[in-house]
Amino acid sequence: MINTVTGQIAAQELGKTLMHEHIQFGYPGYQGDVTYGGWKKEEAIATIKTSMNIVNSHGVKTIVDATPNECGRDAAFLKEVSETFSIQLICSTGFYYEGEGATAYFKFRMAFGDIVKEIEDMMHTEITKGIGDTGVKAGVIKLATSKDQITDYERAFFTAGASVAKETGVPIITHTQEGTMGPDQAELLLSLGVPGDQIMIGHMDGNTNIEYHKKTLDQGVRIAFDRCGIQFIIGMPSDAERVKIFSELVKAGYTDRLHLSHDMVVNMLGRPIVPLPEHAPIFERLYIGNIFDNIIPELMEAGVTQEQIDQIMHQNPQGIFSKA
Ligand SMILES: [Zn+2]
Repeated sequence: MINTVTGQIAAQELGKTLMHEHIQFGYPGYQGDVTYGGWKKEEAIATIKTSMNIVNSHGVKTIVDATPNECGRDAAFLKEVSETFSIQLICSTGFYYEGEGATAYFKFRMAFGDIVKEIEDMMHTEITKGIGDTGVKAGVIKLATSKDQITDYERAFFTAGASVAKETGVPIITHTQEGTMGPDQAELLLSLGVPGDQIMIGHMDGNTNIEYHKKTLDQGVRIAFDRCGIQFIIGMPSDAERVKIFSELVKAGYTDRLHLSHDMVVNMLGRPIVPLPEHAPIFERLYIGNIFDNIIPELMEAGVTQEQIDQIMHQNPQGIFSKA
């Protein structure tokens, strides 16, 4: 059974699913900046409403919220959002990559013992008993690595996450940085004994070399083009490049292990973002309907069939959760 933030469901109840989004996300440190007025629930709900109306209009039934524990994950609030907007949400357990995560805590803990055991205990408890006293259980394990390397700190999370994934059947979804370390993440998780079918290597669309994708997929894992709409930022391709490579992978026969999502931060925590005029191209496709309004029609123009789209948006999410 799959842990959503409002209780357990069977894989067949997932429906159309977005595998990597963020209802809320804050870069660690945002908690220290409240002079602008701080987080207000009514304002957050109003912002989130716009995006939830869009996903509901496209028939999305489930969203996987990939927010790491230390980046503003709020299990009780996610439950409230799920109930308010009639959308199934699955939340994560895990920490962000070393460069942008809050590393001080577990680096401090290293002085007192085995952090792999402590991380394992944290993830296992959040999946089987719940997050704090919210009663909400995590439904995916989130792991992340740096550009061009898996640091010792990140490796501790991979080791712990692999062990908990094997024990619970909960999927692993990952963050790769700027199109690097996809094949290496796959190799590490497989060497730790996680079945490939239970692993989704994320942000693969940061790399436009098809051989990088094949080298990852040929190990037996799933991959995600889960930043659709994030363009013209360091390490991000254009949507046109995404569509080209993704459709080539479909044609090469990998359809049953491909996933699509936006990595959309619906409500960014901290000071409100006021785009400057030069940011206009970046924001052009940065919304949670982009896959349905633009990417899917473009994929179909490139020869991807409706049946293959259904496989990617419905059956593949069921597949990765089939061991949970
Ligand atoms: Zn993300």
